[in-house]
Amino acid sequence: MPKAQETVLEIDLNALKQNFNYLKSKLKDNTKILAVVKAFAYGNDSCEIAKYLENLDADYFAVAYVNEGVTLRQAGVTKPILVLHPIAINFKTLIEHCLEPNLYSVKILEAFIEIATQENQRNYPIHIKFNTGLNRLGFDENDIEFIANKLKETSVVKVKTVFSHLAASEDLNERDFTLTQINTFKNYSEKLIDLLGYKPLRHMCNTSGILNYPEAHFDMVRTGVGLYGFGNSEKESKNLKPIATLKTIISQIHTIEKGESVGYNRAFKSTTKIRTATLPIGHADGINRIYGKGKGFVTIDGEKAPIVGNVCMDMIMVDVTNIECKEGDEVIIFGPDFTTAETLAESAGTISYELITSISQRVKRVLLK
Ligand SMILES: *Cc1c(COP(=O)(O)O)cnc(C)c1O
Repeated sequence: MPKAQETVLEIDLNALKQNFNYLKSKLKDNTKILAVVKAFAYGNDSCEIAKYLENLDADYFAVAYVNEGVTLRQAGVTKPILVLHPIAINFKTLIEHCLEPNLYSVKILEAFIEIATQENQRNYPIHIKFNTGLNRLGFDENDIEFIANKLKETSVVKVKTVFSHLAASEDLNERDFTLTQINTFKNYSEKLIDLLGYKPLRHMCNTSGILNYPEAHFDMVRTGVGLYGFGNSEKESKNLKPIATLKTIISQIHTIEKGESVGYNRAFKSTTKIRTATLPIGHADGINRIYGKGKGFVTIDGEKAPIVGNVCMDMIMVDVTNIECKEGDEVIIFGPDFTTAETLAESAGTISYELITSISQRVKRVLLK
């Protein structure tokens, strides 16, 4: 790998392929894979990642919002794209780009049928989501008859899949709750399918669901974080490889005498003579202020250098007192080899998902093929 000369997020497509194949090895032959590429493919690069996964034979894609789906279509992605959280005002745009809405309430179902009717659609693919315990988006049991009746009186839309989402698939202490969710989904979806008289695909599992609940794979699974190299457990993270490495360089080195302070609000005051390195990456790049004051750290020459004082918008200062390094040297923030995003996130009490999706669009993405 080339040494960094500025702040970059390197994306290893081979690792993506390995993760895809590992997750696929957990499925039955005919179970489909939906790749979740919302939020710039979890902070990576949604178009490049989606195009690569399309070649690897991902069956479906999902994004959160309509504009994310439009971006994928404009980049030439042709496989079906499920929009997990469409907002009614964007329905016309959604149809224009052949995106497929998750419909999760009476209001949103009626609103979509109205727009699809105006747009002269027939059998437009829609996805029905049930709430089985996450209490976020989804129809309840007593909506099932309404959905079936509504859909019988129109040929404008057709249900392509029925799905639900697990609340705690990574937490084995919540196994009973998860099994109840799975059962509830089976019941609701069977009821709806009976009333519809045709058989949409069913799906429920996210990455941890795939790994922990093989009995809940149904016809398709939805994986996000696993593709990007995180398994939400020590055991599974060993089977996956983080695809992204966040790197930067040392801009300047300072000697801080005892009693001097470093950074804004003098959040760090030195009790001994130390050496700090200033790095061109800050909270505007996605290194949140929660990583400041010694919680977060970077790796220089294989050694841990803790963040000193407050994270600035465009810079952090790290303690390099015991590290052999000079201005211009490479710095690793996270990646597969030293500190993973999962470990760094945990050092500040958050999760890999938040850290990787926070890396802002200001950071240059570099693809390694
Ligand atoms: C984001 C999301 C996923 C992906 O979850 P991972 O834990 O990243 O695999 C799956 N399904 C829904 C509904 C989501 O919102």
